[in-house]
Amino acid sequence: MAFAVVTGAAGFLGSHLVDRLLRAGYQVLGIDNFVTGNPNNLAHLEREPQFDLLAQDVSEFLDIPGKVDQIFHLASPASPVDYLNLPIQTLKAGALGTYRALGLAKAKGASFLLASTSEIYGDPLVHPQKEEYWGNVNPIGPRGVYDEAKRFAEALTMAYHRHHGVKTHIVRIFNTYGPRMRLHDGRVVPAFIGQALEGKPLTIFGDGSQTRSFCYCADLIEGIFLLSQSPSADPVNIGNPTELSILEFARLICRLAAIPERLEHKPLPVDDPKQRRPDISRAGKELGWLPRVDLETGLRETIEWFRTHRPDARKEEAAKPSHPEATERSSS
Ligand code: NAD
Ligand code: UDP
Repeated sequence: MAFAVVTGAAGFLGSHLVDRLLRAGYQVLGIDNFVTGNPNNLAHLEREPQFDLLAQDVSEFLDIPGKVDQIFHLASPASPVDYLNLPIQTLKAGALGTYRALGLAKAKGASFLLASTSEIYGDPLVHPQKEEYWGNVNPIGPRGVYDEAKRFAEALTMAYHRHHGVKTHIVRIFNTYGPRMRLHDGRVVPAFIGQALEGKPLTIFGDGSQTRSFCYCADLIEGIFLLSQSPSADPVNIGNPTELSILEFARLICRLAAIPERLEHKPLPVDDPKQRRPDISRAGKELGWLPRVDLETGLRETIEWFRTHRPDARKEEAAKPSHPEATERSSS
């Protein structure tokens, strides 16, 4: 039986990936320090004999006994609000965490998959974004802690591939949404859905003309799974190319939640990318992958999930201690 390690397993995408690997017959060890994730995302696996969870920071030395066949490295704060609150931890997860996870892959002769991001293209000057594009990133801006950590992680992954012969994969994930996102992680999908369900105005940053392309989590996870089974070492974009402005997106959420349109404009965050859409021809050619869930269907599922889970999510967030780095920063 194949043995997989998933870092960031208690997060939104990590927990869905664990479910997918278990369905494929893997034995899975999840690793997480719960800085932005939640063990409740894995509560349904409490009695699952094929799954174990290790509470550990991936920036520290990773010692896993026995054989490991595949490592999926997802551990990192992922929402702009999280990585602005946790700048050093974000840099450490991308740099030291990737170094530890690659070291483990090399020691075990395991394959390694890096969860990279469309943010490595920064505020892109080429549209849509193809994997060949090198990006337009501000290294010293507030988003630089995430973007540069992921760019370093990609460089390190390719170095282990070329220099040590480790079998590696890099997935560049574009905005993905779905059940198990944190209500207050600040990303636009939970933010708008939470506001819609609470009868509050939806907060549009800037004039709302910036664009994004949203992918449903089940599609993304299938793309990651197919990539992990392929020989492809080059980065692969996975995302849904249906692009819309944030203003159009807010109106769509109001329509699907069946609430009157109430919008409120707030300042645009520094270095917020103006447009984003993946070119997914490489994923189609190399993996035979295409997104299957259209935006309205995926959003209906997600709104329904938040409707039923929102009270729990609010209780959990209130009980959670604040980020240590954020506390340090606000008290200094
Ligand atoms: P998430 O915050 O829900 O999950 C990240 C998980 O990593 C959390 O459970 C967190 O506790 C854990 N983690 C963070 N630092 C850690 C550390 N040092 N040690 C151990 N665990 C740690 O976010 P997500 O959306 O599930 O993102 C997962 C991965 O996918 C991230 O690497 C992110 O950069 C990447 N990604 C996600 C998206 C998206 O739209 N969801 C887009 C691009 C890239
Ligand atoms: N955004 C917004 N209102 C919010 C949260 C986000 O208008 O309450 C905007 C944000 O400025 C960005 C887009 O929505 O242009 C997507 O933001 P998100 O944080 O989800 O992800 P990003 O793609 O910026 O990493």
